[in-house]
Amino acid sequence: MQPIMNTYGRLPVTFSKGAGVYVTDDNGKSYLDALSGIAVCGLGHGHPAVTRAIREQADNLVHTSNLYGIGQQQSLAEKLTAISGMDNVFFGNSGAEANEAAIKIARKYGNDQGITLPTILVMDGAFHGRTLATLTATANPAAHAGFTPLVNGFERVPYNDLKAAQDAVKNNSNIIAILIEPVQGEGGVTAATEDYMNGLRELCDQKDLLLMLDEIQTGNGRTGEYFAFQHFNWTPDVLTTAKGLGNGVPIGACLAKGKAANVLQPGNHGSTYGGNPLVCAAANAVIDTITNEKLCTRVTELGERIVNAIDKELKDTGFITEYRGKGLMIGVVLNTTDNAASIMKSSLDAGLLLNVTAGNVVRLLPPFVLTNDEADLIAAKVCEQIKLYFAQKK
Ligand SMILES: *Cc1c(COP(=O)(O)O)cnc(C)c1O
Repeated sequence: MQPIMNTYGRLPVTFSKGAGVYVTDDNGKSYLDALSGIAVCGLGHGHPAVTRAIREQADNLVHTSNLYGIGQQQSLAEKLTAISGMDNVFFGNSGAEANEAAIKIARKYGNDQGITLPTILVMDGAFHGRTLATLTATANPAAHAGFTPLVNGFERVPYNDLKAAQDAVKNNSNIIAILIEPVQGEGGVTAATEDYMNGLRELCDQKDLLLMLDEIQTGNGRTGEYFAFQHFNWTPDVLTTAKGLGNGVPIGACLAKGKAANVLQPGNHGSTYGGNPLVCAAANAVIDTITNEKLCTRVTELGERIVNAIDKELKDTGFITEYRGKGLMIGVVLNTTDNAASIMKSSLDAGLLLNVTAGNVVRLLPPFVLTNDEADLIAAKVCEQIKLYFAQKK
């Protein structure tokens, strides 16, 4: 019996060291990392500012619990609210936990108004996590299979379809919130349109609903703004983030604004580890680095550079139907209905880490600290693997 529970389909490799945009396996082979630990290590591996913050905090104090004040958590909350324009924040240890906090805010917001079955509108293609409530909010039926009964209080509509959301709200007075990813990651790197997002904000304003954005993946610079909603001209009521916030230390955050910010009161929610000194010290260093080094601007440049390079190389091949995403959240949609997951393994063999999602979408989530040469190298290697895939299909 394997001592690790069999919940992951893993590739046959184990990494033992990382530096910048490269990781090394335990045989000494080096790989260019175009996945960043699934959108986590935006600053690459072993970033000196983050390493220093972790080391110094570990020397001083790792954990005390939320029974006491935590200076590093206080400064992280100040930074996150200043950047986002939100009012306050709750810290957990993962994306799913950040979304659980959002779901609890929505439910209590409904219950406080006397709504007995408060319902959250969620989307086709959504991914919100693996806990029972976030699993229910997730769209993929394969992820649901075997885990019934799921949680009450969710209704689903198609993504990027404003009319569907408006109709759902019109027909169900229990709907108190909308939960949505500004760019769906796991669901195939699909971006919401600006008109759609503006329309949802308007709908929530009209009906007094909470607009809750899952920016667990899109936050912390990934799309070229600190948060993806900053491409628009408004703020959400609830905002969750995680992945890129800690550059690898486990942290999740649920931010709230206005009427959503005072819903949770002492005793309503909590976490033993959430926002402890160690993870907050790391996250403070991450935010300072993204801000001081103007990495959001760099993300936009690098994203365009990589997509342009791939397109230049492959545009006459007919292999690509579409490029999706925003910034350094890149989906290259292959012209096939077959599952193209084998590209993950062939890329690994060729020393490149990437992901394939939704069957035929090559998904790139590289670190923001790429040089132009490294970005070009990623593009070249991706093209090589896509050509190889189509050559072997014939
Ligand atoms: C990864 C992810 C989650 C879940 O985060 P975990 O840390 O794995 O719990 C939720 N929502 C989105 C959009 C994600 O990308």
